[in-house]
Amino acid sequence: MAFKKICVFCGSSPGANSIYQDSAKNLGLELVKNNIDLVYGGGNMGLMGIVSQAVLNSGGRSIGVIPKAIADKVDHHEISELHIVKNMHERKQKMFDLSDAFIALPGGFGTLEEILEIITWAQLGFHQKPIGLMNIEGFFNSLFDFFNKSVTQKFIKSEHVDMIKSESTPSLLLKALKTYQLPKLDKWQK
Ligand code: AMP
Repeated sequence: MAFKKICVFCGSSPGANSIYQDSAKNLGLELVKNNIDLVYGGGNMGLMGIVSQAVLNSGGRSIGVIPKAIADKVDHHEISELHIVKNMHERKQKMFDLSDAFIALPGGFGTLEEILEIITWAQLGFHQKPIGLMNIEGFFNSLFDFFNKSVTQKFIKSEHVDMIKSESTPSLLLKALKTYQLPKLDKWQK
């Protein structure tokens, strides 16, 4: 599968360890190397700013989607395209429509909420776009522990956890996403 645009959800904070910032930069470089545009939340702060700046510095395209209320408050560097939308719902729909696949870097509630919504839409069979987590130094291991507990407790199907690719480097993750197609399963299938 060839991707034109990938959406990256990530922390509006830089994180406590420089490894997160290095990985955000490396992910930006890897996107450009593969001729893939970045779709992200607009804005300059934290890992969001780092991934976008890395894309722009190496000659790639960075597309931001930001609600007006946030755009009025935060700085954003000169990006290739900035979509200003009415609210968070419109933002997530726009990011979804623009993108061929989704990656989450480490982040907080915002990052989790965004990637979990995309995972939920996949489990409902609303899309078959690949989804991956950049599992830097096992950052997402405890989330997978929670998912696996939810499988044993029969709240989540193991096929739906298996849809979420997880790798520790951008090149491995892109490779995993390119060769992966989400099954046409949905939550309601027996
Ligand atoms: P968090 O993980 O809580 O830092 O939230 C990061 C995610 O929420 C990003 O992927 C953004 O889409 C969104 N977000 C949070 N804060 C901002 C902000 N100040 N400007 C733009 N987007 C933000």
